[in-house]
Amino acid sequence: MAKYIPTIGLEIHAELTTQTKMFCDSLNDPDTHEPNVNVCPICMGHPGTLPVVNKKAVEEVIRVGYALGCTIADVSKFDRKNYFYPDLPKGYQISQYDMPFCSEGNLKLPGGKTNIRIERIHLEEDTGRLVHDKDGKYSLVDFNRAGVPLMELVTYPDLHSAKDTRLFAEELRRILRYLGASYANMEKGQMRIEVNLSIAKENQKELGTKVEMKNLNSFRVVEDAIAYEIDRQTKLLDEGKKIVQDTLGWDESKKLTFSQRSKEEAHDYRYFPEPDLPSLHIDKEHGFDTSALKKSLPELPQAKRERLSKKYPLSEARAHLLLDDPQEVNNYEELMSEIGGTKERQIATEYFFNELRVLEGGKSTKDTKITSKQLGDFSTIVVKEGLSSTIARPLFRKMYETGGDPTELIKSDDLKQTEDEELKNIIREVLTEHAGPVADYKKGKKQALQFLVGQVMAKTKGKANPQVVGTLLEKKLK
Ligand code: MN
Repeated sequence: MAKYIPTIGLEIHAELTTQTKMFCDSLNDPDTHEPNVNVCPICMGHPGTLPVVNKKAVEEVIRVGYALGCTIADVSKFDRKNYFYPDLPKGYQISQYDMPFCSEGNLKLPGGKTNIRIERIHLEEDTGRLVHDKDGKYSLVDFNRAGVPLMELVTYPDLHSAKDTRLFAEELRRILRYLGASYANMEKGQMRIEVNLSIAKENQKELGTKVEMKNLNSFRVVEDAIAYEIDRQTKLLDEGKKIVQDTLGWDESKKLTFSQRSKEEAHDYRYFPEPDLPSLHIDKEHGFDTSALKKSLPELPQAKRERLSKKYPLSEARAHLLLDDPQEVNNYEELMSEIGGTKERQIATEYFFNELRVLEGGKSTKDTKITSKQLGDFSTIVVKEGLSSTIARPLFRKMYETGGDPTELIKSDDLKQTEDEELKNIIREVLTEHAGPVADYKKGKKQALQFLVGQVMAKTKGKANPQVVGTLLEKKLK
């Protein structure tokens, strides 16, 4: 069977998180649920109204451009993209055609080896939203979203697998979130990915027939739909059949792609420069302080990933869990700030993920009561005293509940029995007095431990903590 290479390019739209819309001062609020309240004559396309550019939206798209190593245009302009659709009140979308704000950038996939080139990023306005009646009799239009600032990023066809495409999209979302440019929640349509895909024989020069996939509403769906298409097209070509150029959607219940008639098919948009907006000069003189925008970039995911992996004992999965939530990275780093030793960092990291995040309800540790000093002291004690988890875990929980100092807690509690000389003497006695069970235990008869614990408990008249005794015995018997 012939081997085929998939070639994938992406067009990604993301709604920007500005206060107001792209060309008017109606609210840009994705959480407004009442329809048609964040509207005005401008975003409703009434005649005689004039758009005004939202400077913040332009600045945000420029910051995204800088974050992706793009060239920022000296001069840029808006254009009209003409088409009719009920969610587009003006009959055209103000977009950018030949002079986008950003061009020629790069995004490195996690791992830093694969580079995906970015062709352009431009700014436009979002459409309204259609709500279809379930009997298919009518559709309602909600214009709250009409005119919301929307960035569109176009990649070169540098991707070659479903997995890498997902990695690209996830990394882009991280970048947008780190910048605060977009919430980029795919399920809410704040980030929308269109996939252009073709497959061709390994050493064939020209690309195969392109299909477009739209309305993919999660990263998993993007990955599944691409994997499905690669498979489907491979089979067709192997059977000597042809690929039909098409726009496809994804059927989540059947897990397959289907042909979708598109409003944009074979369309001539008759782009022309937007006559109601002047071209924009991106320089200080015209109000755009590009060097300040560049300086405003936070540490980006790839830099953070490299720094975290050098500094902390994090598995790839844990690093990603943190990287997806910039606030949580800060929490983690803040809590780790007083911990120097490698072993201590390992302990603290284990307890951060396996205990603290669980105690905080499985999510963010943003409001945790635990301080970096407590976590530092805790991990120092655990390492110095060689505490097993049987003792360390309750100590951590007690520290969490009481807010106490772990050094004090361990002394004032049952836990201190680990340091109790008298108890250690009793244990030594029991071990010499019961050579038989000791030998049994060493041969692998684990129940023998319970007998020995019982003997120690009897000698302390029940005062000892059986869990502590068990741990101490285990330690001695090793
Ligand atoms: Mn677009």
